[in-house]
Formats: sequence, structure tokens, C-alpha cells
Amino acid sequence: MFNKVLIANRGEIALRILRACRELGIPTVAVHSTADEMAMHVRLADESVCIGPPPSRDSYLNIHQIVAACEITGADAVHPGYGFLSENAKFAEILEAHNITFIGPTSDHIKIMGDKIEAKRTAAKLGIPVVPGSDGGVSDVNEAKRIAKDIGFPVIIKATAGGGGRGMKVAKNEAELSNALDTARREAEAAFGNAEVYIEKYLGKPRHIEVQIVGDGKGKAIHLGERDCSLQRRHQKVWEEANSPALNSEQRHEIGMICANAVAKLGYRGAGTIEFLYENGEFYFIEMNTRLQVEHPITEAITGIDLVHEQLRVASGAGLSVTQDEIKFNGHAIECRLNAEHHRTFVPSPGKITHYHAPGGLGIRVDSGVYAGYSIPPYYDSLIGKLIVHGRNRLECMMRLRRALDELVIDGINTTVPLFQELIDCPDIANGDYDIHWLEQYLAAKE
Ligand code: ADP
Repeated sequence: MFNKVLIANRGEIALRILRACRELGIPTVAVHSTADEMAMHVRLADESVCIGPPPSRDSYLNIHQIVAACEITGADAVHPGYGFLSENAKFAEILEAHNITFIGPTSDHIKIMGDKIEAKRTAAKLGIPVVPGSDGGVSDVNEAKRIAKDIGFPVIIKATAGGGGRGMKVAKNEAELSNALDTARREAEAAFGNAEVYIEKYLGKPRHIEVQIVGDGKGKAIHLGERDCSLQRRHQKVWEEANSPALNSEQRHEIGMICANAVAKLGYRGAGTIEFLYENGEFYFIEMNTRLQVEHPITEAITGIDLVHEQLRVASGAGLSVTQDEIKFNGHAIECRLNAEHHRTFVPSPGKITHYHAPGGLGIRVDSGVYAGYSIPPYYDSLIGKLIVHGRNRLECMMRLRRALDELVIDGINTTVPLFQELIDCPDIANGDYDIHWLEQYLAAKE
């Protein structure tokens, strides 16, 4: 195992990683900006190093400062968390060059999955079902028309270098196509410095279903079932559940094994998530995230497996702690993302938390770095915690979630808690009957 792990992140995920290291007896180093001196993970870490001023590009994205912090403290591994440098192939390469382990996949695998066309090609080659569309980039409008006719309208034009739901355009018919192609290329160039776009069939009412995998880098891999993250606003997940209300155990096993076999063949090392759109019983690959995800705790709740422990194990060469046969899915879990935002306008609400009380009891987990008296800095994203609830079945989970939301106190700032209290009373949510557009439509109707 590692001698010392440096946690190159902040907020709830930094604390989450610290907890896993503590349980495995590994000393930790926190790095932080000047705005995060009072953060809980900084207070709890064995050592801490200030790596710069508040803006992320000067601190949490500053590769030189982070490598220097490793050298000063003697850390031999870095956990990047999610966001920031977690999918930065150059960062992984630089660490390896300094003999520091990047707790994640190889830089080659990060690169492949960071290029959407390359990712899709690789996925298809490995036997993962993909969305019908162009085989590679498209720039010529006549070629675009031919492809669109083949797969049928509507189609969606997406940027190869895209991310965060930007650079996508839908064309409902041939008349809209050339305009959509031009706009998408222009926007992709402006946003990502790369005008390359590709075409896919547009799915009308899909669910977002993703499969959690972990590979040992030596040809073995497991899947830990799926998460349903269809409740989204502006392509940002808001509420996630495991298992998906839309799948039965045969479907779970089938898509899970496809994913596990694919990443085993790839020789993938680390945790990863294969994201699909799911419509009319079919899965369509959209992307793979080569890192730990925000919503990983719901998978932990129903499997009892600590994903950060597994990440640390495979990164150190110790191998997976479980085989596929040993993984059992137990009950149902839901995660609500607690954002410091107004629950209707979603305007960020940084500032001081005056009172804080986390719910407790059977089946409740709160992952958060905040406490009473803590001031949320205005420089970073607004996720301040996650409420994760587990029950023996979905109904028990929902009932428990309702009472946990009632117990939770976060005073002094706005949070998204009132939205969850509304959602839990919606019949569609109670029935698990929603697609990726449901939440936006719900919010539009309330305006
Ligand atoms: P990004 O990396 O920008 O998040 P994704 O490929 O993951 O891009 O897609 C983001 C979202 O865009 C999806 O969750 C879905 O809502 C929508 N989307 C992407 N591809 C399609 C498609 N073929 N049909 C319908 N919606 C799509």
C-alpha cells in the first residue's frame, strides 16, 4: 500500500477520500487554496499544504504546485477525486514521470475516453451498444444529409471535444440540418478550440442509466450495477437512484456484464462509469467517465463495497477485493445533491452556515464537509453535500428520505432541500416514471 496519499481536491469528496485512507491506515495530505483554510478535510488531514489563491486555475488546477506538494510531503500517490484534474491525461503523465501514482487509469485510457469519437469507436469495438450515427467527424453538409437519412430524423450534432452538455444541436429535418451543422461547428470551435462534430440519432425520451465498473489493470474487472440519473437540470444530475426503477435483474446483469467484459478487455485500471441513454429497452453508450463520480455512494449503499478502497487497492497493485459472484445487490438507495442554491432560481448562495444538523438513523449517510459556522466560499461549484438514503426496497427508501429531509437543518444560506421535499410528493417520482426531460418540464410548469 501507499506510504502517503495526497488528496488533490476539496469539499465533500476530499473528506470522502480522507475517510477511506484513514480506514486503510494510510496517512493523508490535504492541499487547499487560501479560501479553504478552514475546510473540514484540511482540519482532519495528517498534513496540509496551501497551493495558491482562491481561483481554481491557480490552486486546484495548478499541476506544478500539486507536484511540489507531493515532493515536500513525500506523498507517493495522488487521489484526484472528481472534476478538477481527475480526467487530465497530462496530470497523470506528469505524476508518473515523478514516480508518483495517479489513483486512476493510465493516461492513454483517459485520453481515449476524453475524445468522444474515439471513445465511441472504442466502446463499439469492445461490444458496448452505441447510438447509431456517423463513424467519426462530419464537416460536409451533403455527407451529413446522407447519414441523417440513413439513421432517420431527428438527429443531434455533438462536439468531439464536448463536455458539460455544451456544443450540441438538434436537427428535426433536412431543412434544419445545414444550419445546425454550421452552428454546432462554430460553437465547438469557440468553446473547445476544436470544430470537429459528429452526428447521432436523437433519442426523444430516454433515461440516463450508467454502469459502475472497477478494473484491476491486469485484465480483471467487475461491475457494481447501475445508477439511474435521469433527474437532471441543464444536464446536471440532481437526484440519483440505484437500482434503476426501469430495469429488472436480468437486464442489470446483461448490461453490467457487457461493461465489465469490455473494460477487462481494455485492461482498464481503476473505477469508471459507462453512461448510457436508455429508451424502449435499448442501451445507447454516450460516454465513459474515467474517475470516481459524485453519485458513487448509492452504489456503495446497495453493494456494501467501498469504491475508494477499491480504487486505492487497484492503484497500488493489490487487486480487487471481491469477485463478480460475491457482489449482491441489496435494497434501494437514493442520493439528493445538496447544493447551496435557491431551489427555484438556482442562483448560487455562498455565505455562512449559521446552524447545521445532519439527519441520522438507520440507512442514512451524509457526505459533506460543512459545519455550523462554516463559510461557503463563492469560488467553486455549489455542491455542499449529499444525502444518501438506503432502504430494503424503494418505498422504504422514499419514506426514510422524506423524514431525513425534514430532520436536515442548514440555516443561513439557500439550499436545494425544498425541491427534494416537493419531488418526493410527486406521483411520477413515487412511481419511478421519469425521463431525462422530466425535471426541466416540472420546473418550467412551476414558473
Ligand atoms: P457531455 O459530455 O457534454 O455531458 P454527453 O454525450 O454525455 O455530453 O451528453 C449530455 C446529454 O445530452 C445527455 O445526458 C442527454 O441529455 C443529451 N444527449 C446526448 N446525446 C443524445 C442523443 N443521441 N439523443 C438525445 N439526447 C442526447
